[in-house]
Amino acid sequence: MIGQIYIVRFKTELQIPHCAGCSQHILDKFILKVLDRHWHSKCLKCADCQTPLADKCFSRAGSVYCKEDFFK
Ligand SMILES: [Zn+2]
Ligand SMILES: [Zn+2]
Repeated sequence: MIGQIYIVRFKTELQIPHCAGCSQHILDKFILKVLDRHWHSKCLKCADCQTPLADKCFSRAGSVYCKEDFFK
């Protein structure tokens, strides 16, 4: 599954989201949203090669991958 990464600005009226990567609250000003899950910008990286993902990511079985590792 290919997920577009959205950068959303944290709004105080919303519930503080949990990061899908580290399970901590996300208190950053900007939050990455991929496939209805939220991430710290530092936590969204390829599960295989640890490359930070900034544009598109690829998801399989709950993990996110860069394009190279998803298709290899
Ligand atoms: Zn995190
Ligand atoms: Zn990778």
